[in-house]
Amino acid sequence: MRGRGRRVEILVLGSGGAVPRVRRQPSILVRDWMGNHVLLDAGEGVQMWLMKAGVSPSRLDIVAVTHPHGDHVNGLAGLLMTMSLEGRRRPLTIVSTRETLEFVLETLEATEARLGFKVEALEARGRSYTRLKSSGGDSVVLSWYPTCHSIESVGFRLDWRLRPRIDPGRLAALGLKPGPWIARVVEEGEALVEGRRVRLKDLASTLPMSFSIAYTGDTMHPCPTIEEAVRGVDVLIHEATLGGEYVDEARARGHSTPLQAAGLALKSGVRLLVLYHVSGRYEGFEARKLLFEARRVFPKTLLAWDGMRLLLSP
Ligand SMILES: [Zn+2]
Ligand SMILES: [Zn+2]
Repeated sequence: MRGRGRRVEILVLGSGGAVPRVRRQPSILVRDWMGNHVLLDAGEGVQMWLMKAGVSPSRLDIVAVTHPHGDHVNGLAGLLMTMSLEGRRRPLTIVSTRETLEFVLETLEATEARLGFKVEALEARGRSYTRLKSSGGDSVVLSWYPTCHSIESVGFRLDWRLRPRIDPGRLAALGLKPGPWIARVVEEGEALVEGRRVRLKDLASTLPMSFSIAYTGDTMHPCPTIEEAVRGVDVLIHEATLGGEYVDEARARGHSTPLQAAGLALKSGVRLLVLYHVSGRYEGFEARKLLFEARRVFPKTLLAWDGMRLLLSP
């Protein structure tokens, strides 16, 4: 990802729910131009799908697990073993609920794993965040928030803040030579640069200056904590386990329907909705009915599939 502009890639390794039939168990890799590699959940076989995608498990900086249901953690132990075999030395952060962290640490103990690297367990309680690697004035923060599932569960959000960069082409159009120079603000939104009056927004070539991704893990609706946490994100990756015909069952199991996800996207001012965590009941093209259900309310919806890649560029 380095050297190819400021881009973020979302790679869906698994887009299914608990029973891996047509789709794999949930897992999503997010990586950025600063070299950050964040894994959101670790369904069964995640290490294999990572390697198939050409990403070594050792590159991961953080594994963010929403809750300890098997479909979200089944792949974690294997992933850690592979990192160990690959000779990983730098620590790995695992951020999740207390119950998940206990499960992971107990598994490592039970298998007497000598990993050769440190696992830093970060408990995701309430709403908080951790900073990831930053570069050249750009930065990114991983935060979490409670969701409404059948057990304690969290969702995650990534927010990038970008330093404005000056585009030489645009400078020339403004009649300016490349800096360094000092812009003196003369009035609201305007500045004097090298004796020329320019609008500040013309100077900043990189817009928007921030962008964001939110990931729900498993949740039902209504869920006020999610409504608050995902407001205004560019991409919302939301579970849609069962279609509207099973709305009562979805609720009873702590899950959502596409219509509920779409309603949230609409209310929260999201730019793009991606549905995932699709039940094994929907074979192949049958899952498209979930997509159509959501699009009736929120047209900018995609249905994730295993291996789907999205590139975001500011
Ligand atoms: Zn699940
Ligand atoms: Zn679950």
